[in-house]
Amino acid sequence: MTTHSDTLPNHTDSHRVLAPGAGFPRQPRLLVVEDQPLHIQVLNRALSPECRVFMVTQGKQAVQFCVDRQPDLVLLDVEMPDMDGFQVLEALKAEEVTRNIPVIFVTAHTSTDMETRCLKAGAVDFISKPINPSVVKARVYTHLKLKFQSDLMHQWVYLDGMTGAFNRRYFDDQLQTEWRRAQRTAKPLSVILIDVDFFKAYNDHHGHLLGDEALRTLVKAAKPVLQRPGDFLARYGGEEFVCLLPDTPLADAATLAERIRQAVLEQRVLHEHNPGVGVMSISLGVAENFQPGIANAAQLLGEADKHLYVAKHSGKNRVCSQ
Ligand code: GH3
Ligand code: MG
Ligand code: MG
Ligand code: MG
Repeated sequence: MTTHSDTLPNHTDSHRVLAPGAGFPRQPRLLVVEDQPLHIQVLNRALSPECRVFMVTQGKQAVQFCVDRQPDLVLLDVEMPDMDGFQVLEALKAEEVTRNIPVIFVTAHTSTDMETRCLKAGAVDFISKPINPSVVKARVYTHLKLKFQSDLMHQWVYLDGMTGAFNRRYFDDQLQTEWRRAQRTAKPLSVILIDVDFFKAYNDHHGHLLGDEALRTLVKAAKPVLQRPGDFLARYGGEEFVCLLPDTPLADAATLAERIRQAVLEQRVLHEHNPGVGVMSISLGVAENFQPGIANAAQLLGEADKHLYVAKHSGKNRVCSQ
């Protein structure tokens, strides 16, 4: 997952523009899904410029946008020609990366039956047409506030305070989820285990504070290498890190691992006790779910650990995937 700013479950960076007056930590990103130009205009006028408003006119585009860009909130028209609002919401709920994006239904049907159906389907609220701009604004702001509070709570629970990477708890949760998904969809799932070379000696020589700083530098270098929304880096423990790469075969994961190795090396963090290298380096072990003998998530990690061990014992500062 993922945004991962580190709002979860989004794993890519989001905008950091302040919305003056609205009291949000950054400018909220809203997706309006609506097939009628008049309603689009009214909603856009009500919500800009405090919010950055994106618009799509079809259900399919809405689902794709949410997977790729993870907006903070979706305003979803119920009546649309291709996928209707309920189908869109169902598709969003089915995907890990979009499941927690709050959705407000917008519909011309004002019966309590319809309202109940919307809420039962998992929408956080319901707005009726014709659209009243102040009502929309008030409801949207309330749900955005809740969304930001929930992001913050997730950050506390799921982020490693020292490095800003995701923590072990998050990794363990996601590994189980992604393992099951990979089984269901028969898609590849890869992991990369990362361990800093001669880090005990680094601490002994350069001190623990610089050691901490070096780990933060590692995270800063490694994170941008992972660009797909489902990919992420977590601190596995101590000076060990792990990447989870859904839908990624072994060869691609090995390529990413090599890029991470180089990105860390390029930071040129002085490490006088790393023989022949002189700067901080890492060793990496890669594994994929389809490799022989791997029947569960623990074995997938075990395989990556085996390869990491080989990388360590064949000279360090390298990637091993076989
Ligand atoms: P190798 O190349 O085989 O991995 O050798 P190593 O010295 O890195 O391996 P070892 O596992 O013996 O040492 C890991 C060291 O990482 C020990 C510990 O002092 C250091 N370490 C673990 N967590 C932290 C941390 O949060 N901050 C700092 N500064 N050091 C840490
Ligand atoms: Mg419509
Ligand atoms: Mg270690
Ligand atoms: Mg080490």
